[in-house]
Amino acid sequence: MKYCDAHCHLANLSQLMPLEPLITEATEHDITRYLSSALSKADLEWYEKHSKDFNILYSAGMHPNFELCDLDFQDIKRLCEQGKIWAIGEIGMDKGNSELALMKANFVKQLDLAMDFRLPVVLHIVGHQQEAYEILREYPLKYLIHGYAGSVEAFRNFMKLDSYFTISERVLREDKRDLLKELLKSRRFLFETDITQYYVVEGEANPLLRLESVIQTIAELFKVDTATLQRLQAANYQLLTGQSI
Ligand SMILES: [Zn+2]
Repeated sequence: MKYCDAHCHLANLSQLMPLEPLITEATEHDITRYLSSALSKADLEWYEKHSKDFNILYSAGMHPNFELCDLDFQDIKRLCEQGKIWAIGEIGMDKGNSELALMKANFVKQLDLAMDFRLPVVLHIVGHQQEAYEILREYPLKYLIHGYAGSVEAFRNFMKLDSYFTISERVLREDKRDLLKELLKSRRFLFETDITQYYVVEGEANPLLRLESVIQTIAELFKVDTATLQRLQAANYQLLTGQSI
């Protein structure tokens, strides 16, 4: 059984370094699937060319707080109609965006679109957790909440929805231990690097391998074997995408 990096930005990363050798090496480390996110028109072109070769499923959405995101509603709609994307996202709410009304309007519009096409939604929720939950509970959709690092209370709310979560380095911090415990107990998790070109550190040969250290750290912290973690993320991948790893 293999691993999926369930939230990453491979098109964006490819602008910094050639991806083929990185993906080949990652495959040797049993990382063989990617749920990757498109944030720009240039990203879309890249996925169009490369997603099949590299076992990438991609999603696209109008991000709540990324100024280089140049995707508009028509782009997302077209991708839905053409059956190109596995999900809409990442979309959501971010406390760093001061244009609350516009952010919410875009969020709701894209949730409506997900309803029309029965697509899962990849969520980016930073702050505004209660408000986001109040909106989401109106939609009977499948959610993948990426890199969630908010409160435990809000996590329990999101669990009332048909939600899955990606565990990132962010949740491995000491002060997030209670949240991490709940995430693991829920069994509704996958793992992510959230890698973009901006996160690569000087001298880092292959940032895709960070996924391994996330998994390793969890296995050590909670004394679970990696085979169990692998099985759960594979089952969740299947429930989300309808495909097996
Ligand atoms: Zn992301």
